[in-house]
Amino acid sequence: MIGIGRSTGKRPLAAAFPGGDRIFHRIFTRLGCQGRPPNFVVELYPYANLAHTMRLRQETAHVRLSDILRDAPVPVIEAAAAILLAQMYRRRLPTELRDLYRRFALAHSTRRHIARVRRKRARRIVHNPRGVAHDLEPMFAAINLEYFDGNLRRPRLGWSTRPWRSQFGCFDPSLDQIVMNNRLDRVEVPSYAVELILYHEMLHVKHPLRAAACGLQAHSAEFRAEEKRFKHYERARKFLDHVR
Ligand SMILES: [Zn+2]
Repeated sequence: MIGIGRSTGKRPLAAAFPGGDRIFHRIFTRLGCQGRPPNFVVELYPYANLAHTMRLRQETAHVRLSDILRDAPVPVIEAAAAILLAQMYRRRLPTELRDLYRRFALAHSTRRHIARVRRKRARRIVHNPRGVAHDLEPMFAAINLEYFDGNLRRPRLGWSTRPWRSQFGCFDPSLDQIVMNNRLDRVEVPSYAVELILYHEMLHVKHPLRAAACGLQAHSAEFRAEEKRFKHYERARKFLDHVR
């Protein structure tokens, strides 16, 4: 899925992306999204990653594309738009757009670009696995024992410093850390829901993707099947569907 990137320390400036609104409008129509298209405000944003976000507020969709896409060819921008729109409007993502985006994301030149940007922008998390309501370290140990025979090595674990809007957790192999959305670090969130997210990220540790960074992870059918081995899978999914 497409996730949220962490930004630089000083408040970074988003830059308008000329023509972005037309691209999003076009893809909105091409995917057959329901309803009237919103006004798209598209900006480039200095995320620490190839991450893009979209928020719908009333009639306006605020889109932030990673500025790594600044000089990307139009079809790549279209593919990024399709990924965001398909997710928000629950439309099927056309295979050719998904493949095109993946080819771009995994290309040597893009990966070098991402690495350069990350070195400059990415910050290591503070080591704060304990959280307010949920302690990730004993949770990791218990899941490791139950589902991985205790064989999974432990990356750094921590809670995000701010709540994220679009994903519950993220394994970042280049920083070797699992960061969990602190939206889940509340007493109202049952531990089985936190555990499912942690288990999911642990599966990413087990099955590393060479180029995976937050937001680039694809989930194979095998991955999904393995995820369903989690004892409270259905219950946790149901709960998480209502966390906003
Ligand atoms: Zn994932």
